Formats: sequence, C-alpha cells, structure tokens
Amino acid sequence: MKAFYAEEQRRHDPKAFLSSGAPKPNPEQPERVDRLLAGARTAGCSIERPQAFGLGPIAAIHTAEYLDFLQHIFERWQRIEGASAEVIPNIHPIARGGSYPASAVGQAGYHMADTACPISAETFDSACWSAWTAVAAADAVLAGSDAVYALCRPPGHHAFADVAGGFCFLNNSAIAAQRLRDAAKRVVILDVDLHHGNGTQGIFYARGDVLTVSIHADPARFYPFFWGHADERGEGPGLGANLNLPLPRKSGDEAFLEALDVALRRIRAFAPDAIVVALGLDAFEGDPFGGLSVTTAGFTRIAAAIAALRLPAVIVQEGGYLCEALGDNLTAFLAGFSR
Ligand SMILES: [Zn+2]
Repeated sequence: MKAFYAEEQRRHDPKAFLSSGAPKPNPEQPERVDRLLAGARTAGCSIERPQAFGLGPIAAIHTAEYLDFLQHIFERWQRIEGASAEVIPNIHPIARGGSYPASAVGQAGYHMADTACPISAETFDSACWSAWTAVAAADAVLAGSDAVYALCRPPGHHAFADVAGGFCFLNNSAIAAQRLRDAAKRVVILDVDLHHGNGTQGIFYARGDVLTVSIHADPARFYPFFWGHADERGEGPGLGANLNLPLPRKSGDEAFLEALDVALRRIRAFAPDAIVVALGLDAFEGDPFGGLSVTTAGFTRIAAAIAALRLPAVIVQEGGYLCEALGDNLTAFLAGFSR
C-alpha cells in the first residue's frame, strides 16, 4: 500500500496536558510517529513525502480567521508578560456570541476547545504538513490507487472549521474528504477512533453531500462529552447524513464489529464513490485511554469489513497513543485492509 508522511510533522511537541485537572505529560508525542512508521513498513507500505499544497486545500475546510490565528498566535503569546511557553486557553465563551475578541488570550479561548492542544512555534507548520499528507493520499486515490495510508500527526478529527481541540488543529480527514468532493466524488467519512469525531461532524453537519459516521465510546461519560450522541443526525440539508454509534466502555471486539455492521449498511445505502477512514487506534485494550477493549486481531477484522465495501479508500491516522502494540495495531489494520 502507498503511504505518505512528512518529517516536519514530528516537530510539534506539546508539553502541557490536564487530565481531570491534574498536569500530566501530553500523550500526543512525536514518538508516535516512529511506532506508526514501523507499523506501516511492516505492513509493506512504501512511504512517500507529500508536496506542500499551500493553504488552498486547508482553507476549503477552515476559516481564514482561524488560519490567521493558528499562524500568528504563538508569536503574539510571547509578547504577553509572564505568559506560558505554549499557548493554552484559560477562558472560553459559554456560547459563540457576536463578538470576536482582539486579545490573544480571548482569541485562544475562542479558537481552542480545551487545554489538550497547546500551540508552540512548530505547531502550525507541523499541522499543515499533516494536512498535506492527507491531501497527497486523496490525490493518489483520485489517480487510481485502491487504498492509501496517510500518517497524519498531529491528528485532526476534533478540529472544527475554526476550533482546535483534543490534540487536533486541522481536520485532516475533512480536508481529504473535501479534496475528493472537489473531484466530484460522493464521499463518506467513517471514524473508528475511540473518541467521537466531533470536529468532522461539526464541519459537515449541515451538508448532505458527505456522510459522516462515527463509532466511539459513549460521550455521556467520555471525551468529547458534548457531541457524539445517537440523536445527533445532522441538520438542514445534512439531516440524516450523520450517524453516531456510541458504545459502552470496554465493550470489546464483537460489540465494535456489530456497530460497524450498522455503519456499513448505512454507508452502502448512501452509495459513495470513495471512503475516508478516520483511523484511531486508541480503541485498543492496551492504549493509555483504553476505552473500548478492541484487540490487535480485532483491528484486522475491522479493516477487512471496511475493505469489503470495495471503495477507494484514504486511511487517515487519528489517535492511538504510546503503548507496546501501537505499531502492531497499525500493521494489523493495514494487513486486514489489503486482503
Ligand atoms: Zn481518540
């Protein structure tokens, strides 16, 4: 399988992370890249470097105001006396009102959903390369590849059109999907990450031309809490084009595969020309987030079931954190997809 990755994606190296209020090391570590590269190579991937596509394909999903914020906020933050080394918000609007603050602190709260996505000097550049990796994979699929793996890091599925969150800045899966849409493909995004793909859902919520489906731990007691419930079905022209399949924590392979079966039936009914798989590996039983107790062998079965759709596929890396089996889980998934 063809795969894409750019070394610049490693440079984003977030330090801060609050877990239940307690400062912890940020789990979205550059070392994830080493494990994922090894896993992709073991699965037989040849890894290519994407080109720099500029802001065009990114601006097809994200607002100009947000991209300007991401590009300049670190520099602005450094000018605040006594500010933290990384940009971390300390105030959020309870709802988006009419006003857009001029202050860096106010804008950080406006554009960052939580404290899990600190911004450093390297963040915007790394996030752009991560997005371009997804664009290159989409282009390879458009050029005739059956399935292409995009090693995107930082991940993307918690990023909305103008909000970062949950380790994510630019929504790589959405950007890949839009790239396929621009080539007149009918597209589904299937998100199998442990966490609900709230950013992806938000981006396409009012659109009927991209089906979004997410299987994840029930947000009643799990991040991202405010999205991912079964009754969120889309709105306006997008009504019915969003499907959430929340699962109880620790529910295991069989429950995941049953939910996947429901997802695949909905996808077949939508009759897409191409699929973007938002591939989180954090549903794994040994992942630090340990949420759904999926096994390594389970990832092969999940991949084989998705591959049976026989749709051209862009496989975009989302979550999956440092644990012994991270690389093996990617190998297991890509092997299942190639069968
Ligand atoms: Zn996740």
